[in-house]
Amino acid sequence: MGSKAERKELSYSSFHTYEDCPQRWKFLYVDGLKEAERPYFSFGRSMHMALEAFVGPLTSPHRVRRQGQMSLFDFGAHPPSVRPMPLDDLLRCYRELWIRDGYGSEDEERKYFLIGTDLLRRFHSLYVAAPPQAIAVERDLSGKMGEIPIHGIIDRIDLREEGGLEVVDYKTSRELSLGDAESSDQLTFYQVLVGQNYDRPVHKLTLYHLRSMRPLSTQPRGGKAIGDLTSRVGTVLDGMRRQAFEPKPGSQCRRCEFRPLCPAFHPEKARKSETL
Ligand code: SF4
Repeated sequence: MGSKAERKELSYSSFHTYEDCPQRWKFLYVDGLKEAERPYFSFGRSMHMALEAFVGPLTSPHRVRRQGQMSLFDFGAHPPSVRPMPLDDLLRCYRELWIRDGYGSEDEERKYFLIGTDLLRRFHSLYVAAPPQAIAVERDLSGKMGEIPIHGIIDRIDLREEGGLEVVDYKTSRELSLGDAESSDQLTFYQVLVGQNYDRPVHKLTLYHLRSMRPLSTQPRGGKAIGDLTSRVGTVLDGMRRQAFEPKPGSQCRRCEFRPLCPAFHPEKARKSETL
């Protein structure tokens, strides 16, 4: 497979892209086409990096289970020994990590930058007032759904007071609801990864809506939800292996940059697409 598919384990993003439209997945993962940078992607990545710089030093190392064995860096949970960085330092990190790609003008970039500054001020204040016990940030985990190797990078994992784990995924989108968290396949995917890599159960799944500073939290998924997603992941992997790349026109086409190349809209491209 092409450039984006070099890692053998399936990521949530790859699964989701294929399920949305196999042809679009082919453009990205087989043909190696790139999408243009967008303000919201750059903004989201800048915020994630700033939050990693802030929370990373505060994490308590915790026991990790890898492929059925405990790792040697089993320190157990304990309070972090460092204090949160001051707000000015966090904002300095944010300035240094800021990604400038994709903005249409300096005004647009400045508008996003100031939104991020305001969000980080509020995040810092809430975090310092009631720090969660974060045990990992931006943690790259591998696991399996059924027999299918998967991986994912988890924004944050917290140890909760009652002893279970909370999977936290930051979102910078404008709108987000509790329903989004309840139906999020991404959180189910991450629950499986965290459950297979840590020695404690996942007790909570959270989409953290940064625009409102609201943690949208749900219970962990049960066996049926995990089984249903596992079955869909299997179907997707089967399609990828069979090189079934039919276009799937729908509302996603409005945002798709590959429409000028897409056989669904330009049948004359159908043969060419097979050989891109
Ligand atoms: S335009 Fe629509 S059908 Fe075509 S590749 Fe994009 S998402 Fe798929």
